[in-house]
Amino acid sequence: GALIAQMLVDPVGLILRWYDELQVAHVSLARLVGVRDIEPDAGDGSLDPDGREVRADRVHFGYREGVDVLRKVSLEVAPGTRLALVGPSGAGKSTLGRLLAGIYAPRVGHITLGGAELSGMSAERVRSHVALVNQEHHVFVGSLRDNLLLACTDADDAELWAALGAVDADDWARALDDGLDTEVGSGGLGLTPAQAQQIALARLVLADPHTLVLDEATSLLDPRAARHLERSLARVLDGRTVVAIAHRLHTAHDADVIAVVENGRISELGSHDQLVTADGAYAALWRSWHG
Ligand code: ATP
Repeated sequence: GALIAQMLVDPVGLILRWYDELQVAHVSLARLVGVRDIEPDAGDGSLDPDGREVRADRVHFGYREGVDVLRKVSLEVAPGTRLALVGPSGAGKSTLGRLLAGIYAPRVGHITLGGAELSGMSAERVRSHVALVNQEHHVFVGSLRDNLLLACTDADDAELWAALGAVDADDWARALDDGLDTEVGSGGLGLTPAQAQQIALARLVLADPHTLVLDEATSLLDPRAARHLERSLARVLDGRTVVAIAHRLHTAHDADVIAVVENGRISELGSHDQLVTADGAYAALWRSWHG
């Protein structure tokens, strides 16, 4: 019943609330009403499209005592939807991303996934639910298999090949003389940046978290390799909840919801069309990106 009601109310399943009393005007514009149907956290780490909303509740955070980088940030992202964080450099986007990925705990307030507080979970449990994807694609000394098993220690070779296939890395990987036993990382096979990123994506496929925080790469890749990776990434993101720190126009434009982060606070929240109509900070940013 609830599911059908949700589909009728909101076909993309978007449920997003934002509660900051000081920003009432924006809230009335941005609040998208849906039916909430939160399941308790089963804790099994499997991809479950229902009841795994990501929520920040009146979060304050700073790296140094007395200096808050985030102030009273609240938002909620429904399972399977995409939130883009945009805003000026240094505003706190990456910091918010790290908190939502459980890398840091808030000084005040709560970050929850499906109602369960991240700071109360083991690192391993957090990683099974949410992963941070950024420009740093570490390839470790060891075999290709070792590098993939970091994500999922009990995967067999068939699963590893399937993960490589899912990110279009199986063509070059199958051409390696020693296959999964090939030594990669420093001193081993010199992987291209694109191949290193594919390994990072294959790890994600294996870890299978339902939520991804994507700190978008300002890509060092050539355009062809970038397009290729983009396609693999799109497949990996499909069906998951995504919080994308957007440095590019289309990442924001394609998101279900955009949050503008300015000076440690969320100043605007809404869809691309809503925020362009509102003609505020996002609209200005969009015009500047648009050239
Ligand atoms: P950009 O678009 O440039 O990546 P951002 O919006 O992601 O910026 P953050 O990287 O979250 O902003 O930075 C917010 C503030 O926190 C900045 O003042 C920054 O200098 C500071 N900061 C970020 N990371 C750290 C850190 N690891 N230690 C101390 N201060 C940090």
